[in-house]
Amino acid sequence: MVPTKERNHTGIFLSYGSEGILLDCGEGIQRQMKVAGIKLTKITKILITHWHGDHILGLPGLLQSLTASEYTRKLYIYGPKETKYYIQKMIDLFAIELSYELIVEEIHKGIFFENDDFMLEVMPLEHGIITVGYNFIEKDKRRINVDFVKKKGIPEGPLLGELQKGKSVIFKGEKITPKEATYVISGKKLTVILDTLLCDSCYKLAQDADLLICESAYSSKLENKASEYKHMTAKQAALVASQANVKQLVLTHFSTRYKNTHEIEEDARDFFNNIICAEDFMKLKL
Ligand SMILES: [Zn+2]
Ligand SMILES: [Zn+2]
Repeated sequence: MVPTKERNHTGIFLSYGSEGILLDCGEGIQRQMKVAGIKLTKITKILITHWHGDHILGLPGLLQSLTASEYTRKLYIYGPKETKYYIQKMIDLFAIELSYELIVEEIHKGIFFENDDFMLEVMPLEHGIITVGYNFIEKDKRRINVDFVKKKGIPEGPLLGELQKGKSVIFKGEKITPKEATYVISGKKLTVILDTLLCDSCYKLAQDADLLICESAYSSKLENKASEYKHMTAKQAALVASQANVKQLVLTHFSTRYKNTHEIEEDARDFFNNIICAEDFMKLKL
């Protein structure tokens, strides 16, 4: 909740093709992005988990700087119920002038964005105020088996297009199926669960994720405190990862009482092995 010398407020930047998705925007995120070498104008969407200060205090400054940076895209902000109200209040309070189109959408449950490449999904969590968790789900991609089509002599063009769509085609009187002429690359899934109590939605969100970024404010020694403040322990995050068949777990959002992450990591490692404790400016490739 309070930034330290080593750790800034929360902000996760997901870069995918021309998309730049910022998940939460705590105080100082603009500067963190500068240090990380990410231009603010790369942002296309901002996803907000909830309206506690440590997750949104960076928003007014960021919205203002985008005007100064001559941002020309449409900026989409997604967040739970009341997000429209809060954004408008923020714009009024700080007299923010927007030189770009800002679209704010309130979301609650299910897929709320989809294009040819990926989907964004949201589910409600339990944290005392309205809070949500997010999934980035990349779609499977069908690729042409170049060796096979060369051997058959199928020319580039509409036939390959049909095969790539998963449809069979007839070439020189022979039926060619997508099974033999193409292969499928599975899409990646990223789950982000920030402030919440352990609840059913955690497991549902994280099911089969390649990467789960999960809060773990406390270790199990302070499980009572965790539930009192509606946060998760590292052990609970690890249990979600293990039961939901997650490949890799990144723990984050640690209470400032921990001077390092040893206790947090040990607490989780008893239940799940592939763990990293997040650090500022950490980069992961999926
Ligand atoms: Zn919170
Ligand atoms: Zn928080």
